[in-house]
Formats: sequence, structure tokens, C-alpha cells
Amino acid sequence: MYLQELWQQVLTLVSSEVPKNKLLTYFSRTAILELKDGIMKVGAPTPMAHAWIANKCFQTLVKFAQAAAPETREVTIEVDGALLNQDDLRAIDITQVVAQEKRVRKVRNLNEVTIKDVGGQLTNGAVNTARNGSNGSVSAHGSAYGGNASFVSHMLNQKYSLNNFVVGKDNRLAHAACIAISRRPGSEYNPLFIYGGVGLGKTHLLQATGNEILKNHPDALVVYLTAERFLNEVVAAIKRGDTASLRNRYRKVDCLIIDDIQFFTRGERTQEEFFHTFNDLFDAQKQIIVSSDCPPRELDGMEDRLKSRFGSGMVVEVYPPDFETRLAILQQKCQQQSVILPPEIIECLAKNGLQSVRELEGFLTRILAGMKLTKMMPTIRTVAQMIKSQNGGSQVNGVSEEELQRVMKIRSGDDMITLVSRYYQIPIETLTGASRKKEILLPRQLCMYLMYEVLKYSYGTIGDYFHGRNHTTVLHAHHKIEGLLMQDQKIASDTLTLKREIGL
Ligand code: ADP
Ligand code: MG
Repeated sequence: MYLQELWQQVLTLVSSEVPKNKLLTYFSRTAILELKDGIMKVGAPTPMAHAWIANKCFQTLVKFAQAAAPETREVTIEVDGALLNQDDLRAIDITQVVAQEKRVRKVRNLNEVTIKDVGGQLTNGAVNTARNGSNGSVSAHGSAYGGNASFVSHMLNQKYSLNNFVVGKDNRLAHAACIAISRRPGSEYNPLFIYGGVGLGKTHLLQATGNEILKNHPDALVVYLTAERFLNEVVAAIKRGDTASLRNRYRKVDCLIIDDIQFFTRGERTQEEFFHTFNDLFDAQKQIIVSSDCPPRELDGMEDRLKSRFGSGMVVEVYPPDFETRLAILQQKCQQQSVILPPEIIECLAKNGLQSVRELEGFLTRILAGMKLTKMMPTIRTVAQMIKSQNGGSQVNGVSEEELQRVMKIRSGDDMITLVSRYYQIPIETLTGASRKKEILLPRQLCMYLMYEVLKYSYGTIGDYFHGRNHTTVLHAHHKIEGLLMQDQKIASDTLTLKREIGL
């Protein structure tokens, strides 16, 4: 999921330099196969795409790969034929990138803040972040900010906002602090230290706060980076013997956001540099926000003076969400993607995704991907199976063994008609008859849909059960219900209950 998002970001940037038709032709169904130890392995579905990307657009790709994922030192491309399969979920839908391009670029201009540095030129965008990659070599080595390059703030992911962060009692305090900071950065809650387990929304809050500050103060220079990235920069600056200019750059920042600060414990010099920057910014009343997987006092290997600096501001913990918050998060994510899932299914997910929001999102992504592929609403049983496969086969909360063991009870078209007729309390004659009243028509269409999907009858055969209606009528009914399942809560719920009755 993360790699796909990253790839989408990279290609959105690439689309600023590569014509749309080329993008559609050569980047269709490509993917990042792996990003490990600074090496980004890109997959192309065909040798033709591979050749074009490698020969015509490699430098552009490297440049933007580094901009989007600063830890990238090297980019490699290989052919992976499996990407052509429509159900290979690693591959990207390039049409979405092209469609998105305009919107994203607009936003980018707003958020890309650049400042002049000694000897530097005003540059726009993250374009200068991979200067070492432009000498024709295949790898892209080097740090993001080479020599006297201008300082470009890092694009914050637009997906994260304080509005789309679901607030529950587990994260209310952290959210409130972020709201306050976004209005008046640097004035209170400084530094803000957010800590908690993985997948609980720390990165979301940090990036959202950065986005919000930029919205409220478009001239502010907001820099978000992971501690790991900061570490790399410091190491590169030390190698160049030029930590002073690094320090100078950071001094100009209005809001410095550092994610996953527990990584600092690895390098003493990083801590030293950070401490200086921290003090400079703090004295100038600039905002500092950091996140960590543990409270300041437990940051082993972190210098005491840094720990106490962190502890001197606002320290808040985010906790795993409770059931209500989990429900609200799932509902919001469905809404965001304009899909409807029956309440039973949402509840089932909320009862099982106990670890983190990321786990919940993972469940949802898998279900939605399945729905896209099969064009079918999942049943409780398929959802339970999915959860089981994710959690290593342990018990699925809220679904009984008996439910999982059910066998299909419906064997014929007549069985199906009887079931639907009973469920909606419509006499069989009326259900199969000529009435076009909505309260009859919809159940009839749903019945046809189920006969098609569950019993695998042909449209013609189904028509015969309904007084010889012709197959286009049945086809229409099928498509209609398919569409409604994604939009209409009642139809989605009814279908789920009926499938449950059927034993699916
Ligand atoms: P962390 O940085 O704590 O490991 P993330 O911020 O990366 O966690 O969160 C993981 C995923 O869950 C992200 O996609 C994020 O948008 C989502 N998420 C976490 N908490 C919430 C929330 N309260 N409301 C909406 N989405 C959330
Ligand atoms: Mg994070």
C-alpha cells in the first residue's frame, strides 16, 4: 500500500516533465517492487516499457524518486510480467495519476516553499533535490541538499488533514494541540512531542498540522522530515565538512516537524546538530513538532539535555482507538472512497482490527480491492476469512464458528424466489408478476441478481422464472443492483442478510 502511494507521488511529479501520452503508454501498470537499503526497484510490465523508461526518462525518474522518497540512493528497473495481470495489486492505475495531475500541481505550488540560500537560486519545487543524478549515471547517489543548493521544503502529503482525522478519546488531546499549533505556531505547546505505537496516526497528525499551518500562513516555511532523513543529511554534511550551512538552512524554518525521532538515538553527531537547530528555533519562537514511539524519558541513547528539552513542552500520548473510534474511522474511510459497506461488515472489522488504525485500513483496502475485482458485496463469511488470513488464523471476533461452517441452503430458482418473497413479505405471484412499483421492482431485481450471482443461472433462464421476461430485462436488473450495492445502504444490507440466509 505504501509503495503504491509513493509510486503515485513519484509519477505525479514525473508528469510535470513527461508528456501525458508517453506517461499513459509507458508507465501503465508499473510499480515500485521494493524500496530497501536506499535502492528503489521499479517494475515495468513489458520489455518495451522497460526500454523506454530506462533510455528516455531515467534521469527524470531518479530525480523525482529522490524527491518523493529521500532515502533513495539508487533506482533500478526490471521487467515483471506479472504486473500485467489486472489483479496484481502492486501495479498503478496510470489514468488516475494523469487525471490527478492538474489538481495536485496546483496544490504543490501553494505548499512548496523555497528560500534563497547563500549563493543559491530561487528554485521551484523539489527539482533540485537530485542534482547528483543528472550526470548520466544510472544510479542517483548523494544527499538531497548538495553544496550550496537552495533549501526546498518538503511537500507534505495532501491526503493528511486535521479534518479527516477522526477524533476519539484516545487521541483527542493530541488533535487539540495540533489544532492550536496550526492556528498560532510557535506560541504555545512548543515543542509538541507526540508518542505512541505504530499505526496510531502520529504521521497523519504531524503532516496534517504542517498542511494546516501552510493553509493558515502561506508564507511560512514548514519542513517535515523523518529522523532518518535528518540523520542522512547530517552524515552527508559531515562528510562534506559543512555542517554550518546545514545549520544555517534549518535556522530559516518556521516550523520543523520531525517524525520517528527514536531513530536519533543512533548517531551522536545528529543529536548534536539537532540540539543546535532545536535551540536556535526554540529561541526564535519557531514551532517544533516531533513524534516518537515512546515518551522522552525512554529514548535510550538520547542525550539527557535533548530529553529534557522535549519534555519541557507538551508531551501527549496517542492510544489505540476504542471500538467507537474504530467504527467512526472505518465509516469515514468508506465515505472518503465513496463506497458503502453494510453496518454488519463495518462492525465486524471494528471488532477485529484492535491493533492500530493501519490494521483497520489494511482490512478495508483488501475488502475494497476484492469488491472491485469481483464486483460483489462481500459476505460476513468472506470478511471473516480475510480477517483470519490476516491475523494468522486465530479466532474472528463477532462471527461464530457456526456461521463460518454454514452450508448453502438454496438450491434452485424457486428456493430463491421463496426466500426473497418471505424476506420482503411480498407474495410470490406479485414478486414475479408485472407490478412496477418501486417496493416490488427492487426486490424482484435483487432476486434476479442473486439468481445470477449465486445460482449462476443465465439471464434467459432467470427471465423464465419471471413470466418469461427477456434476457435484457434481467441483464438490466443485474447491473442496476450491482450499482446500487455501492451506493445504497439498504440494498447493501438486504443483500448481505439474504446471502447470510442462503448460507454464504
Ligand atoms: P503512525 O505514524 O502513528 O505509525 P500513521 O499516521 O501512519 O501512524 O497512521 C496510519 C494510517 O492510519 C494512516 O493512513 C492514517 O491516515 C490513518 N489514521 C490513523 N489515525 C487516524 C484517525 N484518527 N483518523 C483517520 N485516519 C487515521
Ligand atoms: Mg509514522
